[in-house]
Amino acid sequence: MKVLIVEDEHKIANSIKKGLEQEKYIVDVVYNGIEGLDFATSETYDVIVLDRMLPGMEGVEITHKLREKQIHTPILMLTAKGQLDDKVEGLDTGADDYMTKPFAFSELLARLRALVRRPQQTVDSVITIDNLSIDTARFEVTRNNKIIQLTSKEFSLLVYLVRHQNTIVTKEQIVNNVWNYDANVLPNSVEVYIKHLRNKIDDSKLGKPLIHTARGFGYKIGEK
Ligand code: CA
Repeated sequence: MKVLIVEDEHKIANSIKKGLEQEKYIVDVVYNGIEGLDFATSETYDVIVLDRMLPGMEGVEITHKLREKQIHTPILMLTAKGQLDDKVEGLDTGADDYMTKPFAFSELLARLRALVRRPQQTVDSVITIDNLSIDTARFEVTRNNKIIQLTSKEFSLLVYLVRHQNTIVTKEQIVNNVWNYDANVLPNSVEVYIKHLRNKIDDSKLGKPLIHTARGFGYKIGEK
């Protein structure tokens, strides 16, 4: 597992590097945007941790240039402040996930693992978990070979959960990733959609429950 860290705050960059190396990752660190783009295009990485505000070239621009060059390495973007528009802009330009600084290292690790586990879109559009199968290209969901009809929002929510399978996602993350920035969504709406999804996916006739509540934190799909 090879990771590129692009972060101009040396202290943060070096502490992430140290932590990842303890987890047996191979880590390259650069401290400005120009080198970040250079490394990301000339080497092959499993995942890139990319700060948004960088000297030389900003994280959003780097992401944009990589995607233009058809380099689809998963990107976890770090944002200094928790402003919603920052996050949405980061995702709109092709970053796969974002985290607001400061963060706990364990969360970073969990997110990197989830990103790397995420199947490459070009290779296989079908994601399976237990006997649940989601075809993201055909918008088709089956469980125990039975077709399940979902609304488009339920489908987006399910895809978000399975792309982070076995990882707890918060209601805030769900709102930020599944709904549009301008939508008026409250955490309660997430609960309602989760309930709808459970009624359809976790029907006991089809299999064991897959969607779990982490009380006070959020939800996860996968093994209990
Ligand atoms: Ca910075």
